[in-house]
Amino acid sequence: MHYRTLGRTGLKVSEVGLGSEAFVNQDDVFAQNLIRAALEAGVNYFDLYNPEPYIRSSFGKAMEGQREKFILQAHLCSAWIDSQYKRTRDMGEVKAAFADLMSRLNTGYIDVGMIHYVDEQKDFDKVFGGPVIEFAKEQKAAGKIRHIGMSTHNPRIAIQAVKSGLVDVVMFSVNPAYDILPPNEDINTLFKAETYQGPDVLSSTDPERQALYSLCESQGVALTVMKPYGGGALLKADESPFGAAMTVLQCLHYCLTRPGVATVLAGAHNQEELMQAAAYCEAPDEEKDYAQLLSSCPAHPFTDKCMYCGHCAPCTAGIDIATVNKFADLCEAQGTVPETLREHYAALEHKAGDCIACGACEGRCPFGVKIVEHMEKAKGIFGA
Ligand code: SF4
Ligand code: SF4
Repeated sequence: MHYRTLGRTGLKVSEVGLGSEAFVNQDDVFAQNLIRAALEAGVNYFDLYNPEPYIRSSFGKAMEGQREKFILQAHLCSAWIDSQYKRTRDMGEVKAAFADLMSRLNTGYIDVGMIHYVDEQKDFDKVFGGPVIEFAKEQKAAGKIRHIGMSTHNPRIAIQAVKSGLVDVVMFSVNPAYDILPPNEDINTLFKAETYQGPDVLSSTDPERQALYSLCESQGVALTVMKPYGGGALLKADESPFGAAMTVLQCLHYCLTRPGVATVLAGAHNQEELMQAAAYCEAPDEEKDYAQLLSSCPAHPFTDKCMYCGHCAPCTAGIDIATVNKFADLCEAQGTVPETLREHYAALEHKAGDCIACGACEGRCPFGVKIVEHMEKAKGIFGA
């Protein structure tokens, strides 16, 4: 397993984390076995959005005596009312659900207190202008929440959360299908096949999503990814908007090559699926490569935009082209060259200025990126 820094929290998290859909309608034996298998595979980042009491209790049991092995993002505003899941902003329900969570987890703290599922502007205004965020801040001050997070499917909302300066982690739905859609307050559009034939669908990454990824990277706000497989649709040829099935490894690699992403919460429903995802770190590059598949999709060819896939390597001059392009794009998105990026760039062994314009890389780029021009542009930005 490889580990990344969870943005400005400084926590070291496994590139592959475990989402918690798997635990629904299962029992404690199943939960203990899946959590144990995850720990053995090196997974240390766990999402717990579920309000179901027995799932919370199962996590509490699994953490007993080994709390330090878990980095837990558990959700606020996700309650169990009348034996049903409820997303709530009612403070009585929010507080009761949090008390239940802490008691069942039997821990003094949760690492990331994730404000649950804010997709609409009206809801965002209510959450960040009202008692929910105040409650989160109080719990943080009391040490029960180490960091505040927010989950959303809407990049416009995510950007506002990052700009508020209050959240250190954003749980966001990332995959190549959602990335070609403009922001939407209705999550259901993400799952409908018609959406991907609609007039709003782009031929490359939506600019607001791109802006979110860049903003997170520059602000040190970590993205933790949900729905990396598009709810499973990307893994099936007849459901994928690209007309071909992606593999688990390709989906994970796509997410982990977006700026700002720290970990991907694999939607594993059993140990076998978990192991498939956990194999990511040891898998050869060719098994992770999503470039050919996405670039050959006639409807959404992702042209003229570096996807940071690394398919153009090796460079004759030794330049890490994907990384140089990523740094240059981050600067462009911010309209400035932040000191941290300048330092990261300075640490690269080979700079854009080393490009000898041999053109070898351009023939290997499936997305038709004019790499020589990009290297010149990067040289102009960084001065080397
Ligand atoms: S230039 Fe092309 S091949 Fe290279 S990282 Fe970007 S998209 Fe991939
Ligand atoms: S054109 Fe420049 S970036 Fe591409 S392989 Fe040649 S030296 Fe490397």
